[in-house]
Amino acid sequence: MGVPHAPGLANFNGKPVVPPGLTISPQSKLTAADLVAMIKKSLPSFFASLFHANRNRIVVWEGGAIPAGVTIPEWFDNARYAVNSGVWHLTTGTVNIDDATPAPVGQKLAGDYEDGDLPIGGKRETGIFVGDTIPTMPQSTITLTERVTDENAGGGPKSLLRRPVTDKLPGESLIVLGTRFRDVAHGGPEIPRSDSAIVETFFHELAAHAYLFNEGKDASHSIGNGWKTSPVSVADVVAQAVYLYFGSMDETPLINQATVNKIPPDGGAGGP
Ligand SMILES: [Zn+2]
Repeated sequence: MGVPHAPGLANFNGKPVVPPGLTISPQSKLTAADLVAMIKKSLPSFFASLFHANRNRIVVWEGGAIPAGVTIPEWFDNARYAVNSGVWHLTTGTVNIDDATPAPVGQKLAGDYEDGDLPIGGKRETGIFVGDTIPTMPQSTITLTERVTDENAGGGPKSLLRRPVTDKLPGESLIVLGTRFRDVAHGGPEIPRSDSAIVETFFHELAAHAYLFNEGKDASHSIGNGWKTSPVSVADVVAQAVYLYFGSMDETPLINQATVNKIPPDGGAGGP
């Protein structure tokens, strides 16, 4: 799979042109440089060498030669396209580990949102959500889909906040990356997710969801968490490839650490 998607890409002296990139919110607990450092640690050298932080933006260099013997996986290509498309903005968030109480995903994964960017719409869900990819739409859009609104995008020509629609570019949609677990109802401690788990979620959201939004395709999972073992939708197939690549880590021990009222191992009543 070559370098098919992104436009533009090498200037006169062969140095890659900087594409618009993925902008990182000033509310994010991780900067563009923090995220790029994490990503570089988790990828082989050629893939790592393509990632750069440019002020508040992440870009993936394009246009260079692909070394002999290197194959670019579809999920990497998807993510590169989504990062460079210039229509995504990213912030971090707290993963609420209460999996039983139904709530909108935008609250279960409580983003470090800019003012007005709390998502609206969407079904009340159960489960634990470590990432969310949320399209921007005009306030007047009639849909039940979870979305942020064009009107609430706080950015402007000189702002680093989420960019509203301009005459040259569409508004930026929002990606939330869960970086820590917390038992919110019981005021529990924040337990950080591992760097490799955060990187897996980064590629999951960009490759399996944001890219498919870019392409105007169905970006949703089939029902449940079946994509890990038996993928059905296109998003499922890409998500599984990312999951297998990054080592399928089990985060249960961290979730247990974040849980305040642990059920005793024998299942009986706790002591005093
Ligand atoms: Zn997903």
